[in-house]
Order: sequence, then structure tokens, then C-alpha cells
Amino acid sequence: MEKSSILLIYTGGTIGMQTDAETGSLRPVNFSHFINEVPELQKSRYHITTHAFSPPIDSANAGPQLWIQLATLIEANYHLYDGFVILHGTDTMAYTASALSFMLENLSKPIIFTGAQLPLGALRTDGKENLVTSIEIAGEKKDGLAVVPEVCIYFENKLLRGNRSTKYSAEHFNAFRSVNYPALAEVGLHIRYNYPAINYPLSNNPLIVHKNLDTRIGLLKLFPGIPREFVEAITQSPSMRALILETFGSGNAMTESWFLALIEKLIKKDVLVVNVSQCFGGTVDMKRYQTSMMLEKIGVISGYDSTTEAMVTKLMYLLGKYTSNEAIIQQLHRSIRGEISLSEEVAHE
Ligand code: ASP
Repeated sequence: MEKSSILLIYTGGTIGMQTDAETGSLRPVNFSHFINEVPELQKSRYHITTHAFSPPIDSANAGPQLWIQLATLIEANYHLYDGFVILHGTDTMAYTASALSFMLENLSKPIIFTGAQLPLGALRTDGKENLVTSIEIAGEKKDGLAVVPEVCIYFENKLLRGNRSTKYSAEHFNAFRSVNYPALAEVGLHIRYNYPAINYPLSNNPLIVHKNLDTRIGLLKLFPGIPREFVEAITQSPSMRALILETFGSGNAMTESWFLALIEKLIKKDVLVVNVSQCFGGTVDMKRYQTSMMLEKIGVISGYDSTTEAMVTKLMYLLGKYTSNEAIIQQLHRSIRGEISLSEEVAHE
């Protein structure tokens, strides 16, 4: 059987950083410096080709420009490789993975994001295991087809769906969580795939790459005592096409009349207002409390159990694709790439 071939892409992040002698802070270094730290790669059962972005970046500086570059690189190399591993900083990895999940339609090959909490050159680095296992997973096939044809994050023994993941810890090696969806694989002595949880393409349709992203989005995290002038400032942003409200619990917000009036005014101006929860687990349910029913009544759209990262990138993708709010709202009520769980009742509405 032919060996799988993997394209290993380096964008930056702690995994490839070194301590700056002058300042003592971590900064990204060139790929050639750090790839020598992993001689284990030569033992891989796959063909590995590398591609490094220059200059490498801290993922705090990642955004739509990098997402488009990654999507373009994957598109150009899609037929040449069986899987892709992307080394990326952990800070915004969940945003980049979510964005790519929406940008790559009809995906049939694995795109595995990974990184590290400690650089590859550090004695106790977590980067080696993350990198080596990500490559194993990216090349894994069953009956000639990819075992995990999804955009994923692999970190500290768990393979998670990218658009369900959130960076949870800036300290622990176990940095990511996917609270509302099970892991796609657990890694110990063996890699145990959770086959029923993995999305497989329903057809052989070719990959479609969507690169038109519209970033005119606002994000408002509510807190008790939020001043009216702050809410006024964000709701008066002239170019905003969609506002994500990060609400309490199962989608609840204050019922003060000034607050509801500002949100309603926004909706009347055709700005989409979407409700996601500040909680890691559970879903928005705007029928449960009076404090959320008010939002539904004025036209706020449920974000269900979406992460904020998935909702930000889903909206950028949808706003870039559709001009009509109706079409966007329809897609917000659908799970496009497995990013939300819909109850039977909602799914068939
Ligand atoms: N600041 C780093 C980054 O996101 C953190 C990391 O990689 O873990 O690039």
C-alpha cells in the first residue's frame, strides 16, 4: 500500500518559539531552526513535505488574511497530499480552525491543527507528541479513505472538532476543550477513533474554497451593571452587519428597557443580532426564562450551543457569501459543518 503523504504547514506559535536573549520573552523563529528538534519525524511511516510561512507569527496576529492564505495553500495542494497538519499558536487556534471549517466545503481530507504550550526546544515540551500524533492522524486511512476528513485540533491526547473547540487553559498542556461535542479520538497506547462522532462527506463533490469573508461583526459580552453608554457605542457602529451578544446562562440578558430598546433598534436597521452563551457547556434556549424570551420577541437569533469562535467565523463566512439577511438567518439555524447541535424539533422546523 502506498504511504500517505502529509503537508506540514508552519505558521508560528509557541511550538516554534525561542526565548529572546535581550527581553526574555518568547518570539517565533524560522522553521529550519526548530524542525531539527524533531528527528522523530524521520521515523514517520508517511512522506512529509513542509511549508513555512515567513515570517512566523504569534497567533495573536492571526486573522482573515492568514485564514485565506491557508485556504489557498490547501486548495493548491489538495490533490497532492492525503492530509494537512498546521502548526499554529494556541491563542487563536480555535478561530482559525473554525474559519477553515466553513471556508472548506466538501472536505474529504484531514486538516489537523496543533501547537504547544512549551516550545519544541524546551526539555519538557508538549510539542513533540502533539506534532507526531497529529501527523499520524492526518495520514490515517481506512479502505483508502481518510479516517478523519474534518478540520480538527489535536492537543494533549485528544482530537477535537475545530469548530467546537475553545482554548481553555493558558497553563495546562491540556489547553483545549470541546464541551458540547465529544472528542473525535482519544490517544493513549492506541489512537481510538470515535467513528460515530466523525463527519464523513455525503458525496464525492469537489472541494469548494470560500475566501470572501466579511468582518463587519461586533461582539458584546454582557456583564451585570454594563453601562448604557458602552452598549450605545457598540450598537451605533455604522458599518456593523451582525452583532453577537454573549449572554448569561441559557441565553439570558437584562430586561431593562433601555437595553432592549437599543437591541431592537439595531434589528430594525437590519443588523443581525445573534445570541451565544458565556457558558462553555449547554445551549441557548430563548424559551426557558423571561429574560431570554424578551430577546427572542424582538428578533434576536439563537446561536444554539455554538462557541463564540465558531459564531464569529460562521458569520464572517455567511456575510461574505449572502447579501440577503433571510438567507443568512436560514443558515444560522442550520449546522453547516457540525458546529452546533440541533434538537430534532429545531432541525425539522
Ligand atoms: N502566544 C502564542 C500564540 O498563540 C501562544 C501559543 O502558541 O501557545 O502564538
